[in-house]
Amino acid sequence: MNPLIAVVGATGTGKSKLAVDLASRFNGEIINGDAMQMYRGLPIITNQIPNEERNGIPHHLISCVDLDTEAWRIGSFKKEALRLIQDIRLRGKLPILVGGTHYYTQAVLFKEQLVDKEKTEEGGEEGEEAEESSTTDLPSTSAKWPILDASPEIQLQKLREVDPVMAGRWHPKDTRKIRRSLEIYLQTGRPASEIYAEQKLLKKQAVMKDEGLLRFENTLILWVHAEKEVLNARLDARVDDMVKQGLMSEAQKMSDYLQDKESQGITIDQTRGVWVSIGFKELAPYFAAVRQPDANEKDLEDIKQSCIEFIRIATRQYGVSQIKWIRNKLWRALSEAGVMRRLYILDSSDVSEWEKCIAQPSENIVQSMLDNQPTPDPKSLSELASTVLEAREEQMRAKNTDEPMKCFTCDVCRKTMTGEEQWQIHLRGHGHKRALKAKAKRAERDAYLRGREEEEKARRGDLDVK
Ligand SMILES: [Zn+2]
Repeated sequence: MNPLIAVVGATGTGKSKLAVDLASRFNGEIINGDAMQMYRGLPIITNQIPNEERNGIPHHLISCVDLDTEAWRIGSFKKEALRLIQDIRLRGKLPILVGGTHYYTQAVLFKEQLVDKEKTEEGGEEGEEAEESSTTDLPSTSAKWPILDASPEIQLQKLREVDPVMAGRWHPKDTRKIRRSLEIYLQTGRPASEIYAEQKLLKKQAVMKDEGLLRFENTLILWVHAEKEVLNARLDARVDDMVKQGLMSEAQKMSDYLQDKESQGITIDQTRGVWVSIGFKELAPYFAAVRQPDANEKDLEDIKQSCIEFIRIATRQYGVSQIKWIRNKLWRALSEAGVMRRLYILDSSDVSEWEKCIAQPSENIVQSMLDNQPTPDPKSLSELASTVLEAREEQMRAKNTDEPMKCFTCDVCRKTMTGEEQWQIHLRGHGHKRALKAKAKRAERDAYLRGREEEEKARRGDLDVK
């Protein structure tokens, strides 16, 4: 039946622990899907599950790459993970993929979509999330098309001419989106609305052609989730723990490696791979300060503490971006493939309730799937699960109504509203009615004054004639 279990979620929620629990219970093996944990010799910075917590379960693609090796691309990861999945199954065991780097996970879970192929192959690195905004500020575009530096009003006016559909979709204050739509038109010579419509159609066709669907029919995705405050507190504590465990000496090792290479005249691309890992790049100012000949203890300690604070901040931000990824990309892919029921949210907000909230429910779900029984309704799992899933469904419904939100501008009040509903509310509001009355009064007064003027003219005319 080719089953596959994927465990996803923000850092610090207990993904690795759940994977070990499930592997122990169902005779499984674990494939690490975290790009950083692939590096050898840096267990603390990359947050690898310690050997004593692995319960003897084989872990693949963990601690398998040296600092010297060029960072893996998503294609190599996918290929190796798929090979391992097959290999684990052939040995009669259950493959469990634990994703920290979620676009790695997604590449394994879903079949290729021809539409997205270019994107996943070229932009498949950490910066992928920023795909839309990243192209906005390319210096070359505004140099080539000065209108992209013009005022938002002028840009909107131009967009109304070349792509009225997009112009109608954006609020005049949404200057970034207006600029982006205009930029697409300038770059491609085609209205962005036309391109989007075409992409939508291609996606639909892709799903009909069986692309972009789950690679393995019997896939379960377990999302270990925790409330934000709880998670943030846990992450802060984890950073402190990492420092205690020897974060500084691992970072020192990396810094020394870079120094060593530099002295040999070799430059290392620090924009990829382990060099962008949280816990290393934030410490750069500290290591630079240490190398100063006049460095004093007190200052160094201050710098170190402020760097550690940045590690805390970056860790929390990373958690947020991982969740965003699940909510947007993974969710969209699942809903496009029509398999939302494959995603289960497990509430890890209270670690003392691990058995009840995480271990038990996930075991039941996996067991049902392996027994070929219907799996439970994802919303039935917990309050957190039903809240998150319902909110998201609502959001998807709002987004999926075929007409995208249109903007309405009230000429009387000089205000713009997004969406029919807001527009109706405005039309019925006091502010608008007052403005209408004021306008009517002005018109009345103007008419009266004009009338007087006319009369005056007529009288003067009369006199002139006489
Ligand atoms: Zn109005």
